[in-house]
Amino acid sequence: EKYTVAFLGLGHMGGPMAANLARAGHRVVGFDVVPAALEAARANGIPVAENAAGAVAGADVVLTMFPSGRHVLDAYRGTDGGPGLLAAAAQGTMFLDCSTINVDEARDAAQLALDAGHRSADAPVSGGVVGAEAGTLTFMVGGGADDFEAVKPLLEAMGKRIVHCGGHGAGQAAKVCNNLILGVSMIAVSEAFVLGEELGLTHQALFDVASAASGQCWALTTNCPVPGPVPTSPANRDYQPGFAGALMAKDLNLAVNALNSTGVAGRMGPLAAEIYDTFAAEGGAGRDFSAIITHIREKSGT
Ligand code: NAD
Repeated sequence: EKYTVAFLGLGHMGGPMAANLARAGHRVVGFDVVPAALEAARANGIPVAENAAGAVAGADVVLTMFPSGRHVLDAYRGTDGGPGLLAAAAQGTMFLDCSTINVDEARDAAQLALDAGHRSADAPVSGGVVGAEAGTLTFMVGGGADDFEAVKPLLEAMGKRIVHCGGHGAGQAAKVCNNLILGVSMIAVSEAFVLGEELGLTHQALFDVASAASGQCWALTTNCPVPGPVPTSPANRDYQPGFAGALMAKDLNLAVNALNSTGVAGRMGPLAAEIYDTFAAEGGAGRDFSAIITHIREKSGT
């Protein structure tokens, strides 16, 4: 089934995702508040609208790919007295948000959509700009079973793994929990390599042991923070992302918000968020998050 999709937010991720949707035969009408993003989309053959309401008119699905939950909620509701997306859309429109936002905000957004007579699903992604361009993203979906079935054909045009995680907000919950593991484990792997250096252990020796032992994890075996053992890891190209430090800091802060709002007594998450905030503020924002190892060396004076 082919859909008419209002694609709002044509940035680093949204631009190539919209192009893949159009390539798969869906009718895409794009919009972005930044003229340069609109222009780039037009140059990529995506029809664009003059404003959000123009994109939403006649759409079956309103797909948002915004920086944060504030952007999503403001756009849904409308700001400065202007009508929001919920008011502009025909009854029963599917509101599909692919941005990475707070779990609580995702649940609020879903409730707003449902209250306005629409449908809703959250579907944050992992896979980065490379995955967005190649159409190999992973989507973590929150919503009812019927919502999942409705958005699946669209997500399949932009991604490779589409996972139904549960009800509204469950997609964001899965993403935030995964990235909590990722952020903490990258710091642990990096601390271990720096400690190994000081103890006279070669990178390869530590890798050979830990990658086949209980220290094994993605941060070590795929995104290894030292050059050498895993030739494809960003460490081998001066930590060009990959997954940028600023985004890891963002996602860890979403994890902290979720810990706080649920009352879970997590301590590693807040610590990792603080470490990545400092890293991002001290030059790591645009480097791969595995460059945290260079930050640990700096702080160690080694
Ligand atoms: P981006 O800043 O490049 O793009 C966001 C776009 O949304 C911008 O072009 C902005 O102008 C537009 N926008 C904001 N408010 C709008 C509105 N009301 N109407 C229309 N357009 C609006 O960000 P990105 O890198 O594409 O990331 C988008 C989301 O995906 C974020 O939530 C991010 O955390 C998540 N994400 C990013 C990556 C990545 O590698 N970049 C990976 C996974 C998830």
